[in-house]
Amino acid sequence: MGTLDGRNALVTGGGRGIGAAISQALAAEGANVAINYAKRPDPAEEVAASIRAMGRTAEIFQADVSDYEACEAMTTAATAKLGPISILVNNAGIASRGNTVAEGDPHEMERVVRTHVFGSWYMAHLLVPQMRELERGDIVQITSSATSGLSANGSPYNMAKTAQEAFAHTLAKEEMPNGIHVNIVAPGLVDTEMGSRLMRAVRGVESLRELDAESAFGHVCTPQEIASVVTFLCGPGASYVSSQRIYVSGGTADSR
Ligand code: NDP
Repeated sequence: MGTLDGRNALVTGGGRGIGAAISQALAAEGANVAINYAKRPDPAEEVAASIRAMGRTAEIFQADVSDYEACEAMTTAATAKLGPISILVNNAGIASRGNTVAEGDPHEMERVVRTHVFGSWYMAHLLVPQMRELERGDIVQITSSATSGLSANGSPYNMAKTAQEAFAHTLAKEEMPNGIHVNIVAPGLVDTEMGSRLMRAVRGVESLRELDAESAFGHVCTPQEIASVVTFLCGPGASYVSSQRIYVSGGTADSR
């Protein structure tokens, strides 16, 4: 028996990195999973195969979450294949390039904000009505410890992640009477393609292993260490938890 037996989840960006670990962790607790990807079907299909090997249902769905019509087509197709979705994880994301506001690119700013913020709103807008009909719904926003530091040279990403958090707290109040929990998981640096690219650009390291010794608890956070918190939030152990932000950063993000 798993804590999520009989539930259906949709994980945006669920085919790689943190999203892949979340898809697998939810499935390990019994959920069937709709795995969204934008451009790369192969890793998404590999994650789906690993979930099917656990005896669960998994399907992959292409959609750019910054495109409302694409989100609508995906949620319709996912619901038709899996049934009503009771867990939504808004994980899909892109980093920004590290420019000041003055040197930044307006198109990049729009792309980053659209992906994180518009994408999260679109997905919740489309899935909340069906969650309201179910015994329980869960929406988890994957934001970032960037919302604690709000460092220079990251305005598109900082704006996007902070807006995602404002959205989550608002939605939590709206949907609490309908049995829907909305929570935020805010990682620090995580060992994924995005994390590696970021550290290559900012710290000049070839491998994240070079940062293990200086990291909290002696290692860079793994995607599984984010996924286990998401799984907890969606499960019976978090039945009275909503509108909370959990920094998963080894204690390195201060909570403002
Ligand atoms: P990766 O770059 O490793 O993976 C990104 C995922 O998002 C991929 O599955 C990608 O799909 C998907 N994606 C990107 N853009 C879109 C889009 N427009 N529509 C649908 N899917 C999209 O990133 P991580 O796993 O590292 O990051 C996951 C989340 O965690 C992001 O929101 C990120 O901001 C956040 N985060 C990451 C940290 C880190 O250090 N890694 C730290 C803090 C937060 P495809 O495979 O098709 O390209």
